[in-house]
Amino acid sequence: MLNIVIFGPPGAGKGTQSEKLIDKYNLKHISTGDLFRWHTSNDTELGLKVKEIMNNGELVSDDITIAMLKEEVEKNEGAGGFLFDGFPRTVAQAKALDELMKEMGTKIHHVVELKVSEEEVKKRIAKRRELENRMDDADEKLIKRIDEYFSKTVHVLPYYAKQNRLSTVNGIGAIDEISKEIIKVLDK
Ligand code: AMP
Repeated sequence: MLNIVIFGPPGAGKGTQSEKLIDKYNLKHISTGDLFRWHTSNDTELGLKVKEIMNNGELVSDDITIAMLKEEVEKNEGAGGFLFDGFPRTVAQAKALDELMKEMGTKIHHVVELKVSEEEVKKRIAKRRELENRMDDADEKLIKRIDEYFSKTVHVLPYYAKQNRLSTVNGIGAIDEISKEIIKVLDK
């Protein structure tokens, strides 16, 4: 089993790189952002609860996020491994994920940080907005989401670095070159 966390600010290319990795390593891709978006666009009870929070570019509470994540992992217990994208975003979530993996007799093998500067990320998100028209990517929310990453989410990195589980890959460059760098880390 291979379990990976892909880490990086909104617009760093986590989605694109994740698609390549799930094919290569036969992983179940779990993106908490995609799961939340599914709930909001289907007006589920959970979706209605988190819609405003997401629209404001804020983080959903740990309790709600961890419960949703757990349910999705447990639904896919037969998977060859997991790629977590957009989760964990807090140290409490990272600890809950470790606990969950332990319960399943496995662990997080690699945490890959796609390193992209704040400025580059802003440029990329503006471009993606034109293509996808994603509701939580509206201009006025953009700064908030990026700030959220650089002020809060980055604090998860030392948690993994201390345990020697963190690898940083330069997220600026050609998509295939970045994939190669990630694969080098995973195959080490
Ligand atoms: P993303 O597509 O990963 O940027 O996620 C979109 C939005 O979903 C975020 O701005 C948050 O409101 C919410 N979200 C996704 N993952 C998490 C998480 N791990 N913890 C809290 N909120 C999350």
